Parts: sequence; structure tokens; C-alpha cells
Amino acid sequence: DRIAERAVCAEPLPVLGRDVTVPLVTGGEVTYAALDYAASAPALQRVWDDVAAYAPYYGSVHRGAGYLSQLSTDLFEQSRATVAEFLDCRPADQVVFTRSTTDSLNLLAAVLPAGCEVFVFETEHHASLLPWGDARVTYLDAPRTPDEAVATLERALAARDPYGPALVCVTGASNVTGELWPVRELAAAAHAHGARIVLDAAQLAPHHRVSVRELDVDWVAFSGHKLYAPFGSGVLAGRADWLQEAQPYLAGGGASRKVARREDGGVDVEWHTTAARHEAGSPNVIGVYSIASACRALTEAGFENLVERERHLIAKVREGLAEVPAVRVLSLFGDDAPRVGVISFVVDGWNSSHFAAALSAEYGIGVRDGLFCAHPLVRTLLGGEPHAEGECGAPEAAPGERSEVGVPSAEGGGRSLNAIRVSFGAGT
Ligand code: PMP
Repeated sequence: DRIAERAVCAEPLPVLGRDVTVPLVTGGEVTYAALDYAASAPALQRVWDDVAAYAPYYGSVHRGAGYLSQLSTDLFEQSRATVAEFLDCRPADQVVFTRSTTDSLNLLAAVLPAGCEVFVFETEHHASLLPWGDARVTYLDAPRTPDEAVATLERALAARDPYGPALVCVTGASNVTGELWPVRELAAAAHAHGARIVLDAAQLAPHHRVSVRELDVDWVAFSGHKLYAPFGSGVLAGRADWLQEAQPYLAGGGASRKVARREDGGVDVEWHTTAARHEAGSPNVIGVYSIASACRALTEAGFENLVERERHLIAKVREGLAEVPAVRVLSLFGDDAPRVGVISFVVDGWNSSHFAAALSAEYGIGVRDGLFCAHPLVRTLLGGEPHAEGECGAPEAAPGERSEVGVPSAEGGGRSLNAIRVSFGAGT
């Protein structure tokens, strides 16, 4: 009940789904408490209204002479400018529209210069851990303080070939603990050693202002569906050079400026050097427009107000959890570390999956259980060995077996093997 309680300090931003009622196993129904923002946040009412207002005017982008095509093209390119402004990009930065953070990081992985080394903390989301293909990846041990994170990165970078290209990939806010990472300091360390840095802002951008210039990061990636714009688009924004020099991530119409048959029968292609180089095919105009709408709405609400409200909510949830002796909140940097509204915990003697299912079935509270696509981090935090089979969600029992995940068991040595996560934001 405490978890579902609303903060009293200010009004939440209007979001869809606030009045949805769900049935309870105990009978009757209750207003749904959406506490899984870290997976996907509800759409802002404002985003929904903007999309509805635009929808009748939808037309193909960059492809039509008609009025609606031109209007859509204008809105699409204006959305790019809005996102650049939202992220406080440098004038020469490019904003590439993708499907999601995962897609954005895979795009960056596809344009790495030859011989590029990658440095990534083992505590990252799999979207940051896994896309690097054939590049040499150094996985850095989980730090226990922000300072240790910087020192660990410094040490690793000092040992690398200082003349080769390198990329550091780091999250701004953990999708498991909600803790903020020292992005500015990590960026300074990366640059001091001649490396570039990409910020995974999937969990940061919905909660805090992200300034590319102030953080001095080379790229930022985030997803629309975690930023109250769940229409299938994401962003990779930052330095143009690696993007311009590489082969297109998606090859096809829209990415090419000129295509001509050669005398020898082949085809010559001149690719765009703008963001369009990596955006082949008909783009998701609604998705892109909805992201721009969310950027405007959050900016107008003022991140300083959103942060202040969320601080109260975080304190309330943590105080409530602290009153339950069986609850252990998971943290890498300690209780006092600054964080966003993402809190994971285990409950002694409870199977986390059963606990989360009970919150839903008995109270109408929607949370997440599992390993949160961050297996090594959850392993470190639980001091155990989570099963791998469950992938992002709860580990699965073998056919015919009852899942023992999270319950005291011989296999887990009495430890929970996955966790429960509550997450919330501007609409809570
Ligand atoms: N990074 C972080 C920190 C995340 O929390 C997530 C989503 N859980 C991702 C990357 C991947 O985002 P998406 O699923 O939208 O690609």
C-alpha cells in the first residue's frame, strides 16, 4: 500500500492509463498502480494528444511532393532539432532516429573504426554489454563507489594502446539500482586517454536533464518508450565523424544520395553523410514526432521540478521498504547514493516471481521481477549465481520442475536468485 501511495509534494504529469482498473484474485477490482516505468513508461497525455492531432496529416517523409508529405517531412526534421535541443547537443552533432536504445548501441557498434577497443562495466544492461561484435571488449569489474568506477576505468584505459581508437560505454542511471553513475568524470577519464564515450541514457533521460555539452559525452542513446513516447522510436545523438565514415547501418532508399550502374555491370553508391545515412527505409514518423513531443513536455514541466517530486517518492518508497525487516534493497553504491525512481529488492523467504505476481493479483500493483537484462550486476548484488535461462525475465524451471527461484533452496544456498523492481517517474 505504501508503495502505491502518491507523493503529496506536487501533481504528477498526466499520463494514459491512470484510471485503468484491473481485477483482483480476491474479488472486485482496483485502480492499477503502474510501477514498472523502467521497462516502459505510460504515454504522457500530452504526447498522445500531439500524436492524435498530427495523425490525420500523416504522410510519407522525404518522399512526396504533396502537402501532407511536406508537412510530415517538416515535422520529422523539426523533431530532430527538438531532440538536439533537448540533449543540448553541439552544433555539429547528428541525431539519428532508431528503434530503441538497443538499436542505437548496435548502430554505434556497427560504425566503430577498425581496431576500436571497447570498455564496458560488467554492471551494464545487456544492451550495452553485448552489441560490440568482433571488437576487443574489456569488461570492467563492478565498482562499489562512483570514485572506484572512475579509477577502474582510468586503470584500464592507461593499459591500452594509446594510439588506437577506443570507446567507453556507460549507463547514466542503472536499470536495477536506479543509481546515478559519474558520467562527467568517466567522460573526462575517457577523453584524457584518447577514448570516446557513449552514454546509455535509457533510464537517465526520463528523470534528469541530459546535456551532451555539460557531460561532455560523445554520444547519447535513449528509447522513446521509456520517455513517455511508446511509439517505437529511439535516438542515437552525437559526433558525426564515425557515423559519416562508416557503411550505413541500414542500407537502402533514403540512405543513398546517388546510385548508378557502372560500366562493369556493378553499382556505384554515394551515401548521405547526414543522419539519413543510417535511416534507410520509410521512417517511423509517429514514433519520432512522439519523442519530440515528450521532450517538449518534460522541458516545459522543468526537470528541476520533476527531480524534486521524484526525490520525495523515492524517499517514501525506501522508508516503506525499510520498515519491513524481510526486505533487502539492492545497491551498488550504498544507501546515500543519488538515484532515480528505480528500486530493486528481495524479500527473505519469498520467491521474487511469486511476490511480484502476488502484488499484481492481490493488489493491482504492476512491478517487474527477474534479472532485468543485467545478469552480471544482479549476480553481484545478490551474491549468488542467477540462472541464465530466464534471459531478461525470471529464470525458468526445467520442464516438470517447480521453479525454485528466489526461495531459500539448496541450489541458491538460501539466497534469492532474482529480484523485484519498482520503478516510477513523472507520471506517478
Ligand atoms: N539500457 C538500459 C539501462 C535499459 O534499462 C534498457 C531497457 N531496459 C535498455 C538499455 C534497452 O532499451 P530498449 O529495450 O528500449 O532497447
